[in-house]
Amino acid sequence: MPHPLRILILGGTTEGRSLAEALAGESDVAPVLSFAGRTQAPQLPPIAFRIGGFGGIDGLIAYLRDNKTDLVIDATHPFAEQMSAHAKAACRATGIPLVLFSRPPWQAVEGDHWIEVESAVAAALALGENPQRVFLTLGRQQLAAFEAAPTHDYLIRSIDPPVPMPRLPKHRLILSRGPFGFEEEVDLMRREKIDILVSKNSGGVATYAKIAAARSLGLLVIMMQPPPRADVPSFDDLVSILGFIRDRAHHAPPVPRGV
Ligand code: NAP
Repeated sequence: MPHPLRILILGGTTEGRSLAEALAGESDVAPVLSFAGRTQAPQLPPIAFRIGGFGGIDGLIAYLRDNKTDLVIDATHPFAEQMSAHAKAACRATGIPLVLFSRPPWQAVEGDHWIEVESAVAAALALGENPQRVFLTLGRQQLAAFEAAPTHDYLIRSIDPPVPMPRLPKHRLILSRGPFGFEEEVDLMRREKIDILVSKNSGGVATYAKIAAARSLGLLVIMMQPPPRADVPSFDDLVSILGFIRDRAHHAPPVPRGV
């Protein structure tokens, strides 16, 4: 009797959660969803999970060996560059197959005014010299880059408080977890008299309302583009990755390991 396919899902995203929900209760897979442990109260999945870093590439290699993992699914956020690079290196070292489950980035449509940039430093520069009311929605980790642009008045939104708080002379923090609706975003941007929205190009539906709201208000969006992803098989919808997993669980011969 073949053992259930042991899958490590690197999550912390809508994709990780939706995959966990779809695989819960399936007898021929044994998935574990991994969180970095960044958010103070993560939404816990209906499958086995673990929380916290692995301890770099070597730690991940040890985890994969100890747990006899058959397949790694990188369902991390498109901007979780380090975790993705570690997964690629650890899978290469162990011979364990790696696939990506990730959403494509958003594309500008008619009515969008985007300036696309590669980094938070470039986003801060793109704000220009005239004081603006800026809505910063980059998460907590890249706020320090805006210390180089202290002229502006910032509205910062994140799930948990930034630690340390960036030293910005004019700012206000709102703590809240999406998804946010279109009307809610329009109301917020109007009420706060926002001139410019700064966003990561994260793709997906969960955080798209702010982009549509900025379009409807004619606001400029400074859009940080995602880093390139690993060159491995990739899936961008649940149905196709589930098909791939079930096919492996039912038919695939044992995967040769370089261990
Ligand atoms: P990162 O910079 O790529 O990773 C930094 C370190 O955090 C990794 O080296 C690893 O530590 C640990 N880590 C990251 N993801 C992990 C996971 N799923 N399971 C276990 N350890 C993990 O990651 P990040 O950008 O800080 O993102 C952290 C988490 O938040 C990820 O799960 C990501 O999917 C999620 N997220 C990120 C963003 C974003 O904009 N970056 C947005 C929404 C959600 P070790 O080296 O010790 O293994």
